[in-house]
This record gives sequence, C-alpha cells and structure tokens, in this order.
Amino acid sequence: MRITVFSRGPGLYSTRRLVEAGEQRGHAISVVDHSLCSPYADGEKSSILMNGLPFDEPEVAIPRIGANITTRGVALIRQLDVMGVPHVLDANALLLARDKMSCLQRLTQEGIGVPRTVLCFSVYEVRKVAKRLGPFPVVVKLLESTHGVGVALAHNLYQLERLAEGFLQLQDRILLQEYIRESKGSDLRAFVVGDRIVAAMQRKAVAGEFRANIHRGATATPVTLSPEEQALVLRVASVIGVEIAGVDLIHSHRGPLVMEVNASPGLEGIEGATRVDIAGAIISYAESKV
Ligand code: ADP
Repeated sequence: MRITVFSRGPGLYSTRRLVEAGEQRGHAISVVDHSLCSPYADGEKSSILMNGLPFDEPEVAIPRIGANITTRGVALIRQLDVMGVPHVLDANALLLARDKMSCLQRLTQEGIGVPRTVLCFSVYEVRKVAKRLGPFPVVVKLLESTHGVGVALAHNLYQLERLAEGFLQLQDRILLQEYIRESKGSDLRAFVVGDRIVAAMQRKAVAGEFRANIHRGATATPVTLSPEEQALVLRVASVIGVEIAGVDLIHSHRGPLVMEVNASPGLEGIEGATRVDIAGAIISYAESKV
C-alpha cells in the first residue's frame, strides 16, 4: 500500500517509527513535509501541489500536524477529503483539539468533567474572575501550548496579573484554570488508536515542577486504566472526533478530569515507557481505512 506520512521532520522519533512500522508491513511509505504542500482546487484536477507540481496521491495518509502549523494542516486535510484520499485525522477534530477552550467546552456540553476553566481576553477580566478559581495557586495557560510551554502557576493575584499581561502579548486570550493540587504533579496519558486504547502511562513531574510533560523532564511509567477511565477516554475521543489521540486525564477529589486531547501525540515517551508498538497499531489502523 502507498502511505504518506505528512510530517515536518523525517528525523523525528514518531515519524521514523511510522516509516519503520510501515516498511515492516511491506508498504511503500513516504514522508512529505506539509509546510511545502499547497492545496489546489480545480474540479477533477484538484490536488496538492508540492513546489508547484502535483504529487503522487497516496492510498492513505497519516497527517502529523504540529501546533504551530494547524491552519495549513487543516487546509491540507480538507484537500485530502476533496481528493477522496482516506486519512486518520479529521480536520474539525484537529481544530477542536487544538483550541483548549473549545475542546473543554465541547466536553462540558457532554457532561464530561474538566478542571474549572475561564477564558479571558484582558487583565481586567483576569482580576475580576480570579476568585472563582481560587484559592491560589491558579494555573494560567496559553490557548495553544505544547510540551507544557505556556502553562504556569500564579501564587497570588499580583503574579496572576503579571503572567496574564505577558501571555496576552503572545495571544489574544488565555485560560485561567483551577489548580488540581491533589494530582501532586502527575497525570495520565492514554493513547487511542481507532476505538481502542493501545497504551497508557502515568507521568510524574520532577521535584519542584507541577507540569508532568516528558519534555519538562517528567518520568513515565506504564499504567493500567480502570474500566471507568477507559470508558471516559474512549468517550472523549469520540466526542472530539479524533481517531488517533493522546487523551490526558488528571486525578482530582471529584474523580478523573480531562485536561486535554492531543491530536498529533508523540510516540517517543509512551513507546519508551510502555514498550507497546504504537507505530504498528497506527499503520494497521491506516490500512483499515482503505
Ligand atoms: P500542554 O498541552 O502544553 O502539555 P497542559 O494543559 O497539558 O499543556 O499542561 C501541562 C501539564 O501541566 C499537564 O500535563 C499537567 O501535568 C500540568 N497541569 C496542567 N493543568 C493543570 C491543573 N489545572 N492542575 C494541575 N496540574 C496541571
């Protein structure tokens, strides 16, 4: 089968693993940098241009869209839809997952538990709503962050306002969120492929850090999710519409809460921690789309 992985970095662990797993299964697998792809609408001849030339249509595509290139990624996926090329990432699901507030709003609409969160557009608003999320500390987040960069803790109103001031220079809106103290710097990442959870890990932040991101030095151990957690993760993936996703849960006194849904989750941390061949699972899932 001809499979294209859309990825900006052929050398990235996740991309390399997908190529390896595809080749192991006898597929012709290529990596295409979507930052060079121009969607081209022209009736029957609609295609994707690479450096101005139509490129060879794959039988199935695996888009891996980084946070800094969402708009282009969405346009590319929509073009795959126009061309009738099956793929594993719905454009609307990607948009929903990328905007943390939209994602939490959608989950809340379905009665799924999330940390108390307020979307703010100004420091004035931050000052007014802060007490709803207290007691301090309060979490401040950029709307689109990855690897925990753009996620900070404010210990008092002064710090909160100053962080908000800084973040609002970068994006026009920010999230304020209740701090889930009882999670003690750990969270759960479940990796969903199709309608299955193929692996799960617990991440624990390093001493003095509350962000349990592997990129922030957190350690990861394999974990077996409870039946309730499993049902929650699969429901979250289905509500957001993601087929391949990392669903992050955090334990609170009121049960597991959904923190975010990652639509292009990395494989390195979770394959390393769990020894599960997730790349292989993704390739088999892609095969099933054809
Ligand atoms: P990113 O998408 O950049 O990873 P997250 O919103 O997932 O950002 O936050 C990064 C990490 O910070 C989480 O994995 C979690 O460990 C910690 N964290 C985020 N929000 C909270 C919160 N409300 N309470 C406690 N810890 C949090």
